[in-house]
Amino acid sequence: MRIIHIFNVSIYTVLPMRLTLIVCSLLLLSVCSFTCSQKKQADLLIYNATIYTVDSSFSLAEAMVVSDGKILAVGKSEELQQQYNAKEKVDAQQKFIYPGFIDAHAHFLSYGLGLQRANLVGTNSWEEILNTLTSFSKEVTEGWLIGRGWDQNDWTIKEFPTKDALDSLFPDRPVFLTRVDGHAAIANQKALDLAGVKAGDKLTGGDILTKNGKLTGVLIDNAVDLVSDKIPSPSSSQAIEAVHDAEANCFEVGLTTIDDCGLSFRDVQFIESLQKTGKLKMRLFVMLSDQQANFDYAFSVGKIKTDRLNVSSFKVYADGALGSRGACLLKPYADKPGWFGFLLSPKEHFDSVARIIYEHQWQMCTHAIGDSGNRMILETYARYLQSSNDRRWRVEHAQVVNQNDFALFGKYNIIPSVQPTHGTSDMYWAGDRLGKERIRGAYAYKQLMDQNNWIPLGTDFPVEDISPFKTFFAAVVRKDEKGFPPNGYQMENALSREQAIRGMTIWAAKSNFEEKEKGSLEIGKFADFVILDQDLMKIADEKILKTKVLSTFVGGEKVFDRK
Ligand SMILES: [Zn+2]
Repeated sequence: MRIIHIFNVSIYTVLPMRLTLIVCSLLLLSVCSFTCSQKKQADLLIYNATIYTVDSSFSLAEAMVVSDGKILAVGKSEELQQQYNAKEKVDAQQKFIYPGFIDAHAHFLSYGLGLQRANLVGTNSWEEILNTLTSFSKEVTEGWLIGRGWDQNDWTIKEFPTKDALDSLFPDRPVFLTRVDGHAAIANQKALDLAGVKAGDKLTGGDILTKNGKLTGVLIDNAVDLVSDKIPSPSSSQAIEAVHDAEANCFEVGLTTIDDCGLSFRDVQFIESLQKTGKLKMRLFVMLSDQQANFDYAFSVGKIKTDRLNVSSFKVYADGALGSRGACLLKPYADKPGWFGFLLSPKEHFDSVARIIYEHQWQMCTHAIGDSGNRMILETYARYLQSSNDRRWRVEHAQVVNQNDFALFGKYNIIPSVQPTHGTSDMYWAGDRLGKERIRGAYAYKQLMDQNNWIPLGTDFPVEDISPFKTFFAAVVRKDEKGFPPNGYQMENALSREQAIRGMTIWAAKSNFEEKEKGSLEIGKFADFVILDQDLMKIADEKILKTKVLSTFVGGEKVFDRK
């Protein structure tokens, strides 16, 4: 208004009457179009909020305008209310808005299917598992009895169970129970018979445990697949239900993009069909698993990129997990003399996979837990990447890294993709496996972040809980939900709150090559955001885990609303 007034004054003083009238009416028109009848149209205006835009300067805003699923403007409540006429207006009542959370490493499909299986997470003894399974067998009355989530480290007797009780309880039904990390399982005799597993069988990258020459039922790493491959695949209605249940739970905790690490091309086709018909709204970044059929598919179809689906990477496994001593270490386990763990494939395999992925310009993402697994992968990557680059090849977990190897991440721009809750879950026993010296290079998220000055964060759910607030808490405070340890675990590797938020948003997007379209609330990006009941950047540590998502938006559409 001030500018127009000035114009008026100057015009009246110098122009003849007739011209003044014409100019005046033109000005009146423009005043009107600016202030009243012709405000700019939009779909959604959210105002009266504290918005963390997570842009490069981590700036704050009060209001945001959305149209066609994208952000049209970000700014002050008063200004945007004056400028825009939105179909829907939301008074955020001083609540806190962050970009939708991105989980850079999870297993979305498998989590959904797991919701239909016996949940053994948090069970405190083998007896408790048998009880859970007995009641589950009354709900699911035929076919395989499948469960997931046990962890012998949570039990009083921290040893692998044996299948005897399973055999007597379920002599005629195959039973298959995977450990929390998915890298070990116990099967009963019926399941082992169906898979043709016998005592004394040997295989690469896996172990079939025996006691006094008899099968105990425990299978490690590649041996797990011998039995899991025999489980009939879910029906299409079961699969659809699984995806829907997973999506609803993920929206409720504010996730708007999930990296699903290691699917088959058939899974991709299933996801694509659901997304195309609007039955799946979650945005997914899918890594194809390291199987010939997936390579054939990928290189004939090419990369897939829609608003909701990105398929441009492969997930490869270097070694197993630390809990089941399958992680490959440079020196023997501190709690198992002479045992180094193992790689899941011969070194030549990783080299040939790296070459083909490099040549086709796809992204390589490799699970590496042990310091030997990490070194082998870093060296393999380095042979192809050669110097600084923008391929963003990732090491998933980068869990135990030798001090001499950290710099390789920066030198070759290799991206460590880490899951902070692993640190606070494993801290009770990881030191036993690794000993005092090696543990300093484990769960070293700050040291890893410093190599490239950015790091994507995730959960690895269903290995851990789906909640991004648990990730944030574990990254920043480095305590578990019980508040242990009182001063935090290896605090030199804590991230700042801003770094943790970036890790769950813009840096996770960057690890997917999607930082131009999501991960921050800036003009032109997808309107993927959450409204929270408290301010993650400011609340006391002990309140972080109580944070609630009030609503979640994907592309400007409200996909979760807390009633
Ligand atoms: Zn994983």
